[in-house]
Parts: sequence; structure tokens; C-alpha cells
Amino acid sequence: MLTSIEGRSVIVTGASKGIGKGIARVFAQQGARVLLAARDLAQAEAAAAEIPGGLVSAVAADVSKAEDNLRMAETAIQRHGGIDILCCNAGIFPAAKLFDMSEADWDQVLDINLKGTFLSVQACLPALKARGKGRIVVTSSITGPITGYPGWSHYGASKAGQLGFIRTAAIELAPFHITVNAVLPGNIRTEGVQALGPDYIAKMTSAIPARRLGTVEDVAYAALFLASDEAGFISGQTIVVDGGQVLPESHMALEDLYS
Ligand code: NAP
Repeated sequence: MLTSIEGRSVIVTGASKGIGKGIARVFAQQGARVLLAARDLAQAEAAAAEIPGGLVSAVAADVSKAEDNLRMAETAIQRHGGIDILCCNAGIFPAAKLFDMSEADWDQVLDINLKGTFLSVQACLPALKARGKGRIVVTSSITGPITGYPGWSHYGASKAGQLGFIRTAAIELAPFHITVNAVLPGNIRTEGVQALGPDYIAKMTSAIPARRLGTVEDVAYAALFLASDEAGFISGQTIVVDGGQVLPESHMALEDLYS
């Protein structure tokens, strides 16, 4: 049994949909006070309204903008009296093959996924430090750190970059008892993945030993563990949440699995 996170102040970026909304819901179910951040305030407020308990609220913030991150941190401090846990989850995954990728395509993905992680962490640091301990959980991906996928070289670079970031951040923040870890989801059934279409989902499902896509809760409970008091000696590390997707040596390893 993990120590309760009841009453802790949590920020989840990219929480109006998908994995972020799942993290917000699971943390709120544990009694945490959760601030959901996303660019579209109406959607973030709608997501907050779906979570029972009255301990959640929303703020509009684009994580690629320093001033938005500062406003997000200030909002959590005003509403919750500080910040205990930051979940850097906001991310986008538009596809563009290398021959077609524009500089703007590259910049947009890196600005939101990688620079956004840095800016969210930096904005929340004074409040996390003031608490005397803190937890930062980054949503990276298997794509980039472990695998590749055509169309996502910029995305993979951003997600691998997040791991480079957490390893040094973990060292710098250790004196303040702030841990920095990452969850690496495989294919999770979210609005963003749903939009990739039924063909993508069917083919991807057949490539996963567990023969299903993940749920947002699968990722949220891994994040909850990394945010717990009991994970205080774990920093700069990763947890893969992928139903075994990265394990098969080739598609042959899966051929007779379900026959
Ligand atoms: P999603 O369903 O598309 O939701 C993305 C969320 O991020 C939305 O709330 C969106 O709201 C927000 N967002 C996007 N850009 C933002 C910005 N600049 N500032 C603040 N919020 C922003 O995505 P998802 O599938 O849940 O993915 C969430 C995270 O998990 C991403 O980092 C993604 O790379 C990672 N991931 C997902 C999977 C998967 O299979 N789903 C696998 C591996 C990793 P607004 O558009 O209103 O801002």
C-alpha cells in the first residue's frame, strides 16, 4: 500500500484529453488536488467537470510559451497553496516524412514536446523546492527512446530528448528531494491515437504481445507510482508501459502466440 497522495497539489499538462486526462482522473481519485492544463480552456474545463470530487480545475496554458507555464504554476499556487507533483504530459504527434518535413514541422514538435517539458519544469521549480520534496513525471514514449516509426523522426527526437533532459535534471534536483522520472507509453487508446484511424489501430494491436492497445489508466498508475513517497529513491529513470510491444525480435515471434 502506497502512502496516500491525498491533498497533494498536482499539475497535469495536456490534460484535456487522452493520457493526461487519465492521469488527472487517477490522481484525483486518490484525493489529490489537480490542475488540468491545455491550450483549449473549454475542453480542459469540460475534462475537469467529468472528474468527480470537486478537487480539480482547469487553466489555459500552451507549454511551449514560458509566460503560460509561469501562469500555470502561479494558478496552482493560488488555488492549492503550492505544487507537489508536476506531470509533463502535453505533446503532439503529427506525421511528416523526412523528404517533406519543413523546418516549421520540426520546430512545432520540438517546441511543444521538448522545450515545453523544460519550460513547465522550470516554471514549477521554485514551488516544488519550497515544499522540501517534489515529483516530476514526464510522459515520453517508446518512439524515439527505444523504437522508430516512419513519419515521426521529429517526434522521436523530442521524446528521446526528454530522457536526456530528465537524467541531468534528476542530478541537479536531487539536493531538493525532487525526483524526475518518465513513463514511456506504447500505443495507448486516446483521442490522438484514435485519429490515426482503424487500420493503424488494427495493425498496431497485432504487433503487441498483450494483443490490445493500452488504456490511459495503464499509464496513469505508472505515473502515480513514480509520484509516490515510496518512489523517492528512484530518479532519472523510465517505466515502459506498452504491453510488451518493444520485446519481439521480429513479427515471427508473435506468429503462433494466439493460435
Ligand atoms: P492527445 O489525446 O492528442 O491529447 C493531447 C493533450 O495535450 C490535449 O489535452 C492537448 O490539448 C494537449 N496539448 C497539445 N499541445 C499542447 C500545448 N502546446 N500546450 C498544452 N497542452 C497541449 O494525446 P495523447 O495520446 O493523450 O498523448 C499525450 C502524451 O502522451 C503526449 O506527450 C504523447 O507524446 C505521449 N504518448 C502518447 C502515446 C499514445 O499512444 N497515445 C504513446 C506514447 C506517448 P490542447 O490541444 O487543447 O492543448
